[in-house]
Amino acid sequence: DQPKDRTVFAKRYTSELDEPLQRKASVEQAVRRCISEDDFYLVFMPLYDARRDRVMGAEALLRSNSESLRQLSPEVYIPVAEKANLIQEIDMLVLRKALAAIKQHELPEGFVLSINISAQELLDSEFAQRIDAALRSAGVSASSICLEVTETFFVHMDEAKVEVLDQLRALGCLVSLDDFGTGYTSFAHLQRLSVDEIKIDRSFVNRLNDPKARVVVESMVNIAQALDYKLVAEGVETLEQLDYLRSLGCHCFQGFLFSEPTTLKKALAARKPATVEISLR
Ligand code: C2E
Ligand code: MG
Ligand code: MG
Ligand code: MG
Repeated sequence: DQPKDRTVFAKRYTSELDEPLQRKASVEQAVRRCISEDDFYLVFMPLYDARRDRVMGAEALLRSNSESLRQLSPEVYIPVAEKANLIQEIDMLVLRKALAAIKQHELPEGFVLSINISAQELLDSEFAQRIDAALRSAGVSASSICLEVTETFFVHMDEAKVEVLDQLRALGCLVSLDDFGTGYTSFAHLQRLSVDEIKIDRSFVNRLNDPKARVVVESMVNIAQALDYKLVAEGVETLEQLDYLRSLGCHCFQGFLFSEPTTLKKALAARKPATVEISLR
């Protein structure tokens, strides 16, 4: 009689269960529509190199023109897309658009465009081949892109994961460990990660007034330096945060202090502000 019981259960709890489920279903539908109608586009955030005092990179971030997704962060719909097996299509359309943007702009020598890749997508054994094919067809050198992967990918390292990273290395793309500190990368892993760059998550940067958070960030900087990873601090919004991070030895920054996500052209023109107007709201 189990099916019957389940029906009763479902009926009784309909109002509580259905809302998030329906929401998920409608987000999934909206993502599907956005893919088929080509309603996704990219915005860019500059990566400022303090030692050269110039923008030496940018991160591409996904945005949507559609009514239903416009107000949502990709943080909300990317996980839905992952569950619905739509992430490969999204990551590939992002890659194509990012490569097209590289071709359309005059970029300074050494400029690198960072692209977020779902950890799930990276597990696909043909991933590196797809990257290679996309680079070739766009006529962009692999060293012009950096693939950002979140820590979840690195939790359990196995042969397959090591191989994907090695393949990407062999192609010549850079790999970045995104949102560092929010996941479960153990010290054991840190020493054998095959990444080029580590990005300190903005949740640490915006807690820098807290002495304990400062100690944590300080040790992140020390570890990255000792292990020879390039380090980027994300979510820098004030000159105080910038100066403090610089004093620790971090030289590469991203955040609203320089620019909100915008066109690649505007991102390239971003400068360090001399002062910051404080708005009293
Ligand atoms: P992320 O890769 O860590 O991207 C940084 C997020 O922090 C972006 O939010 C950016 O707008 C925000 N951010 C950067 N600096 C500041 C700051 O100074 N202040 C504040 N308040 N926010 C700042 P966004 O665009 O909502 O993206 C959220 C997440 O969605 C990304 O985190 C990334 O994990 C994912 N995502 C975004 N675009 C893509 C994409 O094209 N593909 C995939 N697979 N994931 C993406
Ligand atoms: Mg990122
Ligand atoms: Mg991040
Ligand atoms: Mg993030």
